[in-house]
Amino acid sequence: RMARVAFIGLGNMGGGMAANLAKAGHEVHAFDLSEAALAHAEERGSQRAASAAEACKGADAVVTMLPAGQHVAAVYRDSVFGHAQASAILMDCSTIDFATARSVEEEAAAQGYTMVDAPVSGGIAAAEGGTLTFMVGGSDEGFDKAREYLDKMGKAVIHAGDAGAGQAAKIVNNMLLGATMAATCEAFALAKKLGLDQQTFFDISSKASGQSWSMTSYCPVPGVGPETPADRNYEGGFMAQLMLKDLKLAMEAAQAAGAYTPMGAEAEELYQRFVNLGGGPKDFSALIKMIDDSWQK
Ligand code: NAD
Repeated sequence: RMARVAFIGLGNMGGGMAANLAKAGHEVHAFDLSEAALAHAEERGSQRAASAAEACKGADAVVTMLPAGQHVAAVYRDSVFGHAQASAILMDCSTIDFATARSVEEEAAAQGYTMVDAPVSGGIAAAEGGTLTFMVGGSDEGFDKAREYLDKMGKAVIHAGDAGAGQAAKIVNNMLLGATMAATCEAFALAKKLGLDQQTFFDISSKASGQSWSMTSYCPVPGVGPETPADRNYEGGFMAQLMLKDLKLAMEAAQAAGAYTPMGAEAEELYQRFVNLGGGPKDFSALIKMIDDSWQK
């Protein structure tokens, strides 16, 4: 069924996602503060709305893909609540802090809306190709309603639990990824210092108990393992500055929940140093350049 969808936030990720909803036959009413982003969305099948509130008017579904919690809280407070009809399903696909996600969803429920948090795994290419993975937090009813739309933008839509559970799954997974990548980088650096050939160490460790996705699917050493951003001078992939953002969100959530996360804290510190050195736009596996001092010469 063709539905009317409000899409707010048409940046690197939202641009491709809105285009896929339009391609699937939905009537997409798009809004972004950036004129360039709006014009691009219009070229790719969306209709331009004059404001976020205007986009929400009469919508069956609202999708937001915004930078951070403060933007999400402001957009829902000012432009979604009271402007979207009560039957609309509200989906925030941004990666934001757990506390804001919970409070916006509580406010949505208080106002009679059904809302889910649905952050994504996968980068710009997956947003373009419609192959994102969505981790959804919300009621069974919310999940069923949201899935109809998320299916058009992704290859997997997983119900993580109640409100906030999607954000929880996303940041906990990325904390684990940040820590295993840092450990994998230092393992290769130490192996080299001890005179072990990098390929030989990969052949052994990728089949032994030290293996993880960071090694076998995303090896930070060029020319070793499957083709990865390391083989393209660490261009493309998942930017180190976005990994740092997710690690900060994980540490914030850990502190609020009273969880002890020393490895996550160490990973955050390492990525902060790497970003300070100018590594932010590089793929996150480029951390090996900072850890393996022989790369800095
Ligand atoms: P982006 O900065 O490219 O896009 C955000 C867009 O939101 C911008 O176009 C901006 O103009 C718009 N915006 C900001 N405030 C607004 C407002 N009040 N009203 C309307 N529009 C507004 O960011 P992105 O890379 O598309 O990421 C979006 C979200 O997805 C972030 O939370 C990010 O962490 C998450 N994410 C990104 C990636 C990635 O690889 N880029 C991967 C997974 C998740």
